[in-house]
Amino acid sequence: MSDRYLDFAHSSFGKTFASMLGLPTPPRLRRPDAPWAGQLLEGKFVLIGGDDAAVLSEPLLTAIHGMGAGLRIVPEHVGLPPLKKAAAKLKLSLAGNPSAESGEPRSHALVFDASGLNSIESIRELYDFMQPLVRGLPSNGRVLVVSRAPESADSVLAKTMSMAMRGFVRSLAKEIGKNGSTANLLEVEIGGESGLDAPLRFFLSEHSAYVSGQTLSVGPAEGTSRIALPGSLNGKVALVTGAARGIGASIASVLAREGAQVIGMDHPSQEGALGETMASLNGVGLALDVTAADAAERIAAEVGPRFGGLDVVVHNAGVTRDKMLRNMSPQFWDMVLNINLGAILRINEGLLKKGLQQNGRIVCISSIGGIGGNAGQTNYASTKAGVIGYADAMAPLMAKRGGAINAVAPGFIETQMTAAMPMAPREVGRRINSLSQGGMPQDIAEAVAFLASPAAAGINGRTLRVCGQNWFGA
Ligand code: NAP
Repeated sequence: MSDRYLDFAHSSFGKTFASMLGLPTPPRLRRPDAPWAGQLLEGKFVLIGGDDAAVLSEPLLTAIHGMGAGLRIVPEHVGLPPLKKAAAKLKLSLAGNPSAESGEPRSHALVFDASGLNSIESIRELYDFMQPLVRGLPSNGRVLVVSRAPESADSVLAKTMSMAMRGFVRSLAKEIGKNGSTANLLEVEIGGESGLDAPLRFFLSEHSAYVSGQTLSVGPAEGTSRIALPGSLNGKVALVTGAARGIGASIASVLAREGAQVIGMDHPSQEGALGETMASLNGVGLALDVTAADAAERIAAEVGPRFGGLDVVVHNAGVTRDKMLRNMSPQFWDMVLNINLGAILRINEGLLKKGLQQNGRIVCISSIGGIGGNAGQTNYASTKAGVIGYADAMAPLMAKRGGAINAVAPGFIETQMTAAMPMAPREVGRRINSLSQGGMPQDIAEAVAFLASPAAAGINGRTLRVCGQNWFGA
């Protein structure tokens, strides 16, 4: 479950060898080793630009300043008026971008407020801002474009330009991945300004190390706009299924790192491993098959008396039983459908009646296999695509309760599941993405912790790919 080539390519011999043969050197990605920090960009600089009709300057500057970052601009950039006006109102100072020779630290992130783009001419402002700067992005740098969501665009041209941002970000992400840098797009619905802080923190920090080329929409975060991401999971009660090992164990660990009381659930055959994982997190182990007919009642009975109820449910347990459809047994079909999808629907139905707090949050683990499809995975891909539809369909109901449901679609992640793949497809699987490497279970866990937080309230019914911009299904 480790990427030996990545380690080799960073050794002194490996570097020479890789460059002689023209082999890629996957960048080392920086991941967080501590809980969400308030000032998580302290000592770093963010270079901000925008179009001259941009409308999100104020919430953007507030949020980025709130992360402790120094704010920089390019003084010659034409889209500065909205930024300057917002900075004056907020009493924030905007420094000029230092020259490469100045010895000043490079800017960690480039952020462009594209919320006012409404013509071919205006989109040139994006090019003028990004083109000269992208070369200076440090390793593990961040590019973030913030636009109006196409559904919230008020004209044909505004919608066209909003969609254009998706292509821009997807392509730039492919260019800068060699450097360990990422590019993403945050689409803001009308009223979504109130929910901007949490996704900005996620995309601009190490917590999103393996998320690139993605678009995430944020809507109004009614009533919760003052909840900050750092500390927001403190004291929350979170259930994670399939928590004995792999991605589930990492989700449990990151939620515990953020202060949650974790209840880890896994198949009774994994009781020993589950006990060990939970002991290290002060968590509670629940040896229970997710497909048990009374799973929801047993979860509620375990949680209710001790903790009151669940604030977070993460449906992570999943299996593969791959076969070409022509050779697939009904047992393989039924097993995968039942564990990966049927159990999620049944458990949620029960927990929504009893066990999940009114404003509880649900995160379901999907897969890029459910987006791209895969020969030999008609069963698995059906379930993982179903999960995406389910999150979308359940979002209005969850919003009415003051909660949310979202899905995370992992790409190739280094776990026992992928270690069991034959060598050739495994090696291809872990390289065919913009960061030339597989993700770590922690990468999925960081995205889950972000979406599980009440601070991410503006994000509901969405699917976030955590795949290093895998070419599969993209
Ligand atoms: P994993 O290492 O196989 O772990 C899955 C865990 O779920 C295991 O402990 C497993 O226990 C448990 N589980 C399976 N069936 C269960 C059941 N009926 N009741 C309770 N627990 C059960 O898998 P992983 O790689 O961490 O994957 C976790 C999730 O991410 C899955 O939903 C998977 O589809 C998804 N995913 C993974 C990747 C990847 O690259 N690894 C990519 C995309 C999506 P047993 O040992 O008893 O089966």
